[in-house]
Amino acid sequence: MARGKPEFDIEACTGCNKCVDVCPQNILMLSDKYNKQKKHFAECFDEGRCTACSECSGICPEYAIRIWSFSITAGG
Ligand code: SF4
Ligand code: SF4
Repeated sequence: MARGKPEFDIEACTGCNKCVDVCPQNILMLSDKYNKQKKHFAECFDEGRCTACSECSGICPEYAIRIWSFSITAGG
């Protein structure tokens, strides 16, 4: 099964919440903190559950999410 890790460009994020809504794993949220645009930026609170489906990066209007994908081998 593919595993992944979302990497956010927090300064590009406008806090629109689209990635939070779309993530099938429900592992994204808006931070309590602000970026320089004074927006709450998106972050992942449980990267271990990311499946690298790329739905979040596909929906982001700011192209602020990059997905790293790993393949996990049995016993590895
Ligand atoms: S790649 Fe998929 S599982 Fe991972 S954070 Fe994005 S929407 Fe969620
Ligand atoms: S979809 Fe993009 S701009 Fe919107 S909250 Fe997520 S990372 Fe930020």
